[in-house]
Parts: sequence; structure tokens; C-alpha cells
Amino acid sequence: MAVFKLDNVEDLYEIGSVLGSGHFGQVREVRERATDVLWAGKFLKLKKGAGSRLGLERKSVEKEVEILQSLQHQNIMALKDVFESRAEVVLIVELIKGGELFDFIAEKENLTETEAIEFMKQILEGVRYMHQKTVAHFDLKPENIMLSDKHAPNPDIKIIDFGMAHRFIQGEEYKSLGGTPQYIGECLSGLSPFQGETDEETLRNIVAMKYEFEPHCFSQTSNMAKDFIQKLLVKDQSERMTAEECLIHPWIKPLNRTQIAKRNRSSINMKNFKKFNARRKWKMSFNMVSACNRFCRLQLLCKARGPEQQELRDCESDQEDTGTKPASLLRRRLSSSS
Ligand code: ATP
Repeated sequence: MAVFKLDNVEDLYEIGSVLGSGHFGQVREVRERATDVLWAGKFLKLKKGAGSRLGLERKSVEKEVEILQSLQHQNIMALKDVFESRAEVVLIVELIKGGELFDFIAEKENLTETEAIEFMKQILEGVRYMHQKTVAHFDLKPENIMLSDKHAPNPDIKIIDFGMAHRFIQGEEYKSLGGTPQYIGECLSGLSPFQGETDEETLRNIVAMKYEFEPHCFSQTSNMAKDFIQKLLVKDQSERMTAEECLIHPWIKPLNRTQIAKRNRSSINMKNFKKFNARRKWKMSFNMVSACNRFCRLQLLCKARGPEQQELRDCESDQEDTGTKPASLLRRRLSSSS
């Protein structure tokens, strides 16, 4: 069992404002008292007991910590320290001030493919590194791709949230129900090539690998970019480009001046991108409100059923006494593997 520091984190760090919330707690700005340096503290609620429905298994936190400890890369959020109390584990990590990459892009009036590639390259560098270290992230999505400092001339990408990450064994198959498979196409056109009329149709298209680059959305997208996407949207993993191969694809690393010029002439469909980002934000808020409603209904149900439900009520109120947001009971870390 991993040993985390048992000191009271507040003796060493002053706890500041909330930077973000996840399913199992909050991320807050913290100031190291000894040095005045600012960090981020990720406060993760632990399950109170075997029957508790909320909070994380300690084992799951240990896994996230073990994985983060093994990764030191410019494009991956760094872990500094870990503290543990009876109810929670606190990860002290690098403070990432620039917000989400997608929000940064959505504020722009225009973006060339060349500019987009600079971000893509950094994401790929981070992914290549973690794969070299036999780590798969399994939850790479816009919310988990942040910028070190959005005012810097060339801001660094930082990949965060290794809560669903796994260590893999080369050659062994791993299946997960987590993950979000369609983001590269969305980055360039503001539309997923799998987009259906409904979520069900989109999902069916993804499973069947049925996609098309609709001309009205992908008209500004270069053929090299489409080729890059196509080589990633391959069901058979052994046929799909690896991060290493992506980094030498001519869209990322052009071989001649003609390819460079083509890239420079192509641009991101900002109108669709902004729409996509707004829809994504709206969905995130909707999911949070739905989770709150589910939680409230559960509380009412427990009250109505009386004392035999006391244990369940105690579990559900784990979150309430510390003021964190109710958790979705459905999502991550429940993601199954086989
Ligand atoms: P989820 O339940 O969505 O998987 P989580 O509980 O694992 O989330 P994170 O995704 O790691 O938590 O963090 C939640 C949010 O906190 C992020 O979306 C981001 O806005 C913010 N955040 C996380 N890490 C940092 C950091 N190092 N610096 C600044 N903000 C951060």
C-alpha cells in the first residue's frame, strides 16, 4: 500500500480559491507556506467504508498517484506531493493557469491549421511520452487539455486528469468503456465526422466506423489533415497510427514546401468550432444539474423509506458535510475493463 504524507496539508499549504470541480472533489489553488509558491491541490474524497457509494477507493487514488509519479514531461501536469487524511487524499500538483485549450481557441477570430498543429504536436508529444512509459490516459478530451499560461506567446499544453489512466502491457489487449473517441475531427471542423441526427445515431456511426467529411463543414480543411484523421479513425488498433507515427505524418511534419504552403492556406472552421464549444459547455452544465437532481431525488427517497435506509443516507451525505458538489454515481472509475 502506497504511503502518503500524514501531515495536515493546511499546516504546509494555505488553501485558496476553487479552480475546478471533478466527480470526486475539488481542485483549489494552494500556496506553499515555506516558499510562497502557488500550486493546485486536488482534493479527492475517499470512500468511508466498503458499503459507501460515494468517494473513491483508496486503491484507485494510489493508481492515479503511481502513474503521475512516473511521468515527468513538459506537456503533462506534474505531481509534487500527496497528503492523506481519514476522509480524503490531496494531490499537490503544478498550477495550470491558462484554462482549457478549447476555450482559448474559441475566443479567437481565426486559426490556421499551422497554428492548430502547434497545439496538436504538443498533445502528441505528451501522449507519445506516456505510451513510452506504458501509460494510457483513457480520458483525453477537451476538458483535460489545458494551457500553462494563455498570455504566453507559445503556451504549453498540459494534459491533466489521470483518474482513468492505466498501465498497459505491450501486446496485451485492453478494453475500456471510458474515453471519448471523436475529438480530432471536431477540432478542425467544429463537427464530428461521425455526427448523426441524434446521440444514438452518432454512437452507432462510431461503433460502425461510419463517417464522412461533409463538404460544407470540411471545405477549409486540407487533404493532409483529412488523411491524418482517416489514419486515426481505424477500428483495428494495430492498423491505427501511433502517437509516434502521427508526429511524422506530413500534416504534422511536412516534407516539402508545397505541403507547408497547403497547411498555411487551410484554416479551422471557427464558426462551427465556437458552436461546438458552446454546445460542449452547455452539455457539461446540463450533466452537472442532472447529477444534482438525481442526488436530491435519492436523498428524498432515503428520507421517505425511514431508518432502515440510514446507512445509505450516511453514505450519500459524505459529500454534503464538506461542501463539495454531488458526484455522478454513474461515471468514471467505474469504467469496466476486461
Ligand atoms: P473528472 O471527474 O471530470 O474526471 P477529476 O475529479 O478527476 O475530474 P480533474 O479533471 O483532474 O478532476 O480536475 C477538475 C477540474 O479542475 C479541471 O477540469 C480543471 O478545470 C481544474 N484543474 C485540474 N487540475 C488543475 C491544475 N493543475 N491547475 C488548474 N486547474 C486544474
